Amino acid sequence: MAETFTFQAETQQLLDILIHSLYTDREIFMRELISNASDALNRLQFEQLTNSEMLDSDVPLEIRITTDEEAGTITISDTGIGMTADEIQDNLGTIARSGAKNFMQALQDAPNKETATNIIGQFGVGFYSVFMAADKVQVISRSHQPDAEAIIWEANGGTEYTMEVAEKESRGTDIVIYLKEDAKEFLQAWRIKNIITKHSDYVAFPIYVGDDEKPANKQTALWRQSPREIEDDEYKSFYQMLTMDFGEPLMRVHMRAEGVMQFYALLYVPSTSEPSPFSPRKDPGLKLYARKVLIDDYHKDLLPEYLQFIQGVVDSEDIPLSVTRESVRANRIMANLKKTITSKVLSELKQMANKETEKYLEIFAEFGRFLKQGVVMSPTDKDDLLPLLFWQTSHDEDEDSFHSLNDYVGRMVDGQDEIYYVISDDYHSAKRSPHLDPFRQRGIEVLYFCDPVDSMLPMGLTDYKGHKLRSVDEADINLKDVGTVQEDESQAEALEETTFESLLERVKRILGERVSDVRESQSLVGSPARLVSDDNSGQRHMFRINRLLDKEYQMPVKALELNPRHPLLHNVSDLLADNGDNPLIDVVIEQVFETALLQDGIHPDPAAMAERLTALMQAATGSADSVDFSKVAPPKAEEVEPSEEAE
Ligand code: ADP
Repeated sequence: MAETFTFQAETQQLLDILIHSLYTDREIFMRELISNASDALNRLQFEQLTNSEMLDSDVPLEIRITTDEEAGTITISDTGIGMTADEIQDNLGTIARSGAKNFMQALQDAPNKETATNIIGQFGVGFYSVFMAADKVQVISRSHQPDAEAIIWEANGGTEYTMEVAEKESRGTDIVIYLKEDAKEFLQAWRIKNIITKHSDYVAFPIYVGDDEKPANKQTALWRQSPREIEDDEYKSFYQMLTMDFGEPLMRVHMRAEGVMQFYALLYVPSTSEPSPFSPRKDPGLKLYARKVLIDDYHKDLLPEYLQFIQGVVDSEDIPLSVTRESVRANRIMANLKKTITSKVLSELKQMANKETEKYLEIFAEFGRFLKQGVVMSPTDKDDLLPLLFWQTSHDEDEDSFHSLNDYVGRMVDGQDEIYYVISDDYHSAKRSPHLDPFRQRGIEVLYFCDPVDSMLPMGLTDYKGHKLRSVDEADINLKDVGTVQEDESQAEALEETTFESLLERVKRILGERVSDVRESQSLVGSPARLVSDDNSGQRHMFRINRLLDKEYQMPVKALELNPRHPLLHNVSDLLADNGDNPLIDVVIEQVFETALLQDGIHPDPAAMAERLTALMQAATGSADSVDFSKVAPPKAEEVEPSEEAE
């Protein structure tokens, strides 16, 4: 007696959509069922490695597709692992499967049903997609476990399905598809073969159609073929099959090693760092085959962490079939494989960076942050990674142009021994940074570190080809003998020493502990002030990353440098000499300080400046007397005793 069960609500909803929508793409149901059959064969093969007690242990591993015109059915059979009653119940009665679940999510997010069903072909919707073409489906399965009974499962797209013990002598699964009236095209052998070539050509097991003795698919694993025999299109469609990403991969690496170590690898840099939410590949890692048997879908030990964005397949002749059983030999082989594959990928990237820089920069735009992480996390690979990094720089002030450390070093000016960078929240602030004044003046190039990950770089990137890397806000940078001053400094005179000293005292009193020091700048040209750091450690920029991640962080306390030549400071000095109680003085000092914070991207609350700026503009356009500065005055700092020399 057949027992009747009810599908979960989500499954019912999915079935309803699949049955009642119209698509041009419904042939993909065949791809999905063949892929399930191939998985079942793979799993059987894996099981065979350790289990000799199984049904039909010497039946050939294959997929067979037959049709019955009169009945209007197609049957897709495999000699794979099969399912027990419980497994059928679990696997086909619920919707916990990846593809189907994603599809449901997409439907929920889609503006209308039409949009979602149009994209159905882009991801695995799994077994249920068969209902795009079927009125009724029977799954007859017999598990590889010798004493399990064969089961027939049946559903017609309604809310229920039935299950019953069935007659089936041999191991595996038959899916019998009762085609819809308008789906009879799928009865034609040529149509079926066509679909196989299009979607399932590299399935590793033979797929026979009807009585044909020749498999309809190529089967040969693409990665085992000679690159000379492979067309670009084949590489591309393999990538698409693997990732369900329909963009162009940005790079591919095909390795065939047939020496001491024998292995094949076909690797891709994906088209984007944000895989489609429908991608069947949810985790990083490569597909690992041992002598053609898939032993791990997501193997993470073949590439270092920073290259986990790479997708592809590795097939080794040397690793023992069960790498899961740890052994010294296996570990050694795996370590060698990893080393060989990693260095090949890095050298291909390097070559592309040198010879096809434009093309490489596309990769860098997507995946550069991983490579930068590598510099910090994998110091041993640093020499290979540094030539792969690029930045915008002050060299050409062009937002679209990127430069490597090599480019930079080649352009260093006379007397220059260090490499300079400015850390900033974005390109435009980097470009306007007051720290750049003396560098511009002397024609010294500065790298713009304005990708959030760049704040972490100084921890690993301390020098390149013997040149130290220095952040432009380090207090002790001395440019006196570097380059030549290009423009004439026909600026205002510097303030007299005693006048300037009293200004410094006043600023110290106003800013209190918000700065570590206030002093004269030796380097500023066009800007009145800048904040410099006395702490030169590589970690000190990390707060930017923590801030980005919403983690706790502490704003650095820096020293304020003032430019004694700047007209603004001359004006403030005059006010100070005239009447020290003028409220404008402290308000301007506060704004000079906050402007410097803003320029370094470390102002905790930029909007708070608005009111002060309005008051200052009001004073500038009319009379300062009419402005109430009390609301925008600096917070009361603790009274600092003026030092004796300044008196
Ligand atoms: P997915 O393939 O994304 O897991 P499906 O809905 O296509 O989801 O399949 C659900 C599950 O049913 C599979 O994961 C597998 O366990 C089982 N299954 C489907 N087809 C077969 C088959 N031909 N042989 C054995 N098991 C199968």
